[in-house]
Amino acid sequence: MDAGSPDRMIAALERTIEKPGRAGADERLLVGVDLGTAYIVVVVLNQAQEPLACAMEFARVIKDGLVVDYVGATRIVRRLVERLEGRLGRKLIHAAGAMPPGTGKKACATHRHVIEAAGLEVTAFPDEPMAANAVLGLRDGAVVDIGGGTTGLSVFKKGKVVYTADEPTGGTHLTLVLAGNYGISLDEAEKLKKRPERQKEIFPLVLPVLEKMGSIVARHLHGHMVPAVWLVGGTCLLPGMEAVITKEVGLPVFKPANPFLVTPLGIALHCGHEELP
Ligand code: ATP
Repeated sequence: MDAGSPDRMIAALERTIEKPGRAGADERLLVGVDLGTAYIVVVVLNQAQEPLACAMEFARVIKDGLVVDYVGATRIVRRLVERLEGRLGRKLIHAAGAMPPGTGKKACATHRHVIEAAGLEVTAFPDEPMAANAVLGLRDGAVVDIGGGTTGLSVFKKGKVVYTADEPTGGTHLTLVLAGNYGISLDEAEKLKKRPERQKEIFPLVLPVLEKMGSIVARHLHGHMVPAVWLVGGTCLLPGMEAVITKEVGLPVFKPANPFLVTPLGIALHCGHEELP
């Protein structure tokens, strides 16, 4: 990646959520669409791979990597694309999507159809760890992606993925614990979890789930001899997450400036590659 360090680029992308950049009239725009269990995120970069705009919506249209509400997913992607087109004053034409490693051909095709039905031409469809690594630029190490539904893990050796795993423990499970503890709805618990001033208080309640995530990572990394672990995915925004994973895994753990935006940004970086499976 030649657009500066990962943290600088992620921070630049974060700023565009409030304040979009300016797109040149003729330059090709790179678009990434991340269809997640908890969030759908669309990122736009300029030709020089600099962040221009980003929009997202909380959604429950994907489950276990599968589109469970096709119409709902398409509607959200179209709405996000229109919002970004309005902000940039430019039509978005091409986009990359991504799938979790090991996703079957049929499920991949459905992901692609959602993006196409929203009016975009799909140019690339990397798997999610490759997308994340377009930002991180790892040669050797493990990328741990803790999103809404799952804890995913990919081991990189000499820049190539040599092992992947995905287990169904994610941020949604933290939300469930909080809803049970406080006797509140899932929506209220989801909001509570993300309030910075409450995160210290809720940490001990969710610690057993975080430790389980750490033990999943430790089990899958056993015997892989990786030098360090990089955390991505929205659940890693929780302060203290890296200490829990370090304790369970016994390796140095790095967390980028905003782990939530790494994979969406990496998907957009792939948009210029014109690579379809
Ligand atoms: P998956 O990768 O499992 O398909 P996803 O792509 O939707 O899901 P992400 O967008 O990486 O996953 O992360 C979503 C999760 O991150 C949700 O569970 C959400 O509650 C959690 N999350 C988002 N922001 C925060 C925050 N500030 N603190 C704690 N958790 C957060």
